[in-house]
Amino acid sequence: APPSPALSSIQHDGRRPHVVFVPSAGMSHLTQFVRFIVALSSHDVDISVVTVFPTVSDAEANHFAALFKEFPSIRRLDFDLLPFDASEFPGGDPFFLRWEALRRSMHLLGPIIAGVTPRVTAIVTDVTLVSHVNPIAKNLQLQCYVLFVASATMMSLNSYFPIYLDNKDAEADVGDVDIPGVRRIARSWLPQPLLDLNKIFTKQFIENGREIVKTDGVLINTFDALEPVALAALRDGKVVPGFPSVFAVGPYTSLANEKKDAGAEGEDWILSWLRQQPARSVVYVAFGSRSTVSHEQLREIAAGLEASGCRFLWVLKTTVGGRHDRDSLRDVLGDGFLERVQGRGVVTKAWVDQEAVLSHPAVGLFLSHSGWSSVTEVAAAGMPLLAWPRLGDNRVAAAVVASSGAGVWMEHWSWDGEEWLVSGEEIGAKLKEMMADGAAREKAAKVREEAAKAVAEGGSSHTSMLEFVAKLKAT
Ligand code: UDP
Ligand code: UDP
Repeated sequence: APPSPALSSIQHDGRRPHVVFVPSAGMSHLTQFVRFIVALSSHDVDISVVTVFPTVSDAEANHFAALFKEFPSIRRLDFDLLPFDASEFPGGDPFFLRWEALRRSMHLLGPIIAGVTPRVTAIVTDVTLVSHVNPIAKNLQLQCYVLFVASATMMSLNSYFPIYLDNKDAEADVGDVDIPGVRRIARSWLPQPLLDLNKIFTKQFIENGREIVKTDGVLINTFDALEPVALAALRDGKVVPGFPSVFAVGPYTSLANEKKDAGAEGEDWILSWLRQQPARSVVYVAFGSRSTVSHEQLREIAAGLEASGCRFLWVLKTTVGGRHDRDSLRDVLGDGFLERVQGRGVVTKAWVDQEAVLSHPAVGLFLSHSGWSSVTEVAAAGMPLLAWPRLGDNRVAAAVVASSGAGVWMEHWSWDGEEWLVSGEEIGAKLKEMMADGAAREKAAKVREEAAKAVAEGGSSHTSMLEFVAKLKAT
């Protein structure tokens, strides 16, 4: 439908821009949204945030509550999700079903945004919703941006993938994807669902990938020195001709209230324990906010940590047992492990303040699934990362880790869906080797210097943020 004349005739001259954020679900998506919103709030813009009811988890609800409490000038726009019948997608991942439920309610956004005062300038949304949100923005003659929570390399894959499929023999297997100007993404590195074009994730990915190009720009939690090739290829239109503005504005700064959000209590003992350990003696092990490691593989990791002889802090997410239930850890890790490593190793199911851990002098290495948020946090902290991808975009992110010098990627280690286990012996040997690797430490420190330069006044990310704000004000 054509925009109403009343709306289109209103000018923004000299007014503060008003940006409405439309986030999606998932803690790592929300954390990045909140960090970016807070960064933008210091730039003389009005900000509203669409919050969806019902919320998915307490962690997400708490995260939003903390934002609105600390920044009372940020408006909350309540949004009621329409009922969604998930039986259409038997066995679907709850994450992707939630995204689908959100997508199918997005037409309700138009009237809400049209009714807001002061008049809205731009919508900033999550990539998982963009194919439904951008048309609404265009209809209201508003700018629309994607705040992307993965890497620029992943952005290039997302926007190129639909074109790649269009040009490929429809019967042929998905295969390796050679992204023009960026790099070849091996078939085995693709987020697992993409190998099946009938998966709900894949359908969303393709629709969103086609729409990204029609937005006014993308904001990415990365910086030029971390992904120079992918950023240049996107900006030069090599990936997709006519690609919109690319603002590389990371790494974001975390917020003081984050550790409270997820309901962490009494985890200070972890930091006190770290304070008692010698410098660079501890391996920090964490595979993100979800449990994606089989119990058999967890036992091999335990054996590896034991064999390495290193001190360690292992944040273990498992759905077995409650957060404070040590017996369930015993069941998962096998009898005697916790006793044998007592004094030099700590295992916890708690939500830890990861950034505090990454910047702690006692920590010397991070064994991680290489989730993109973790990668950006490592870049900011200068902590060497041993990347062991588990799922989704983790292997694409690990390729960035390896090429940037932020860490080392164990390319042949198995991930979710590959049945074989990486042995404790191999894990232990690699940990020992990496803990003694001065060159890896130096490279990681270089990445931290580049990250600090990027966000400092005059740096590439700082400049990119100012360009984004200028574009908002130019409407
Ligand atoms: N993703 C994307 N386009 C989409 C949907 C998802 O690029 O339309 C990205 C998403 O941001 C993530 C990756 O695909 O980086 C894999 O998604 P998954 O849910 O497995 O990981 P998560 O978002 O939980 O880290
Ligand atoms: N995180 C944390 N404490 C935990 C687990 C996770 O602070 O106990 C944070 C971590 O710092 C990062 C995010 O949660 O900001 C996880 O995002 P990532 O992209 O690394 O992994 P995902 O959970 O999306 O797979």
